[in-house]
Amino acid sequence: MDSSYTTGRYQINCPKPEVIEKILLRAYKHPLLMQVFEEHIASCNKCREIVEHVRIYYEILDAELQKPVSMKVIQFAKSISSGNPKSKKQSPPT
Ligand SMILES: [Zn+2]
Repeated sequence: MDSSYTTGRYQINCPKPEVIEKILLRAYKHPLLMQVFEEHIASCNKCREIVEHVRIYYEILDAELQKPVSMKVIQFAKSISSGNPKSKKQSPPT
C-alpha cells in the first residue's frame, strides 16, 4: 500500500504543460494541489519555465482583453468567419 502521502509534504512528478496550466487556472479551487506544485517548481527548473510561459501568456491575454478592440481586429475576425469555417479544436483523448 502506498502510505507515503502526508499532507503538505508529498512529491509530484513533472506534470505535462497542459496539466500545469490547469493547476494554475484552478489554484483557487485546489489550494493544496497548488501548494504541492509550488513546492515542486521550487526545485524543478523545467516546470518553473512552463509556469513562467503560462503566466506571461495570461498577462498578455489579460492586457489585450482590457484594450478596446481595434477595427483591425474586427476586420480580421470578419475575414476569418466569412469563408473559412474551420475552427474545430482538437483535444487529445484523456
Ligand atoms: Zn517538474
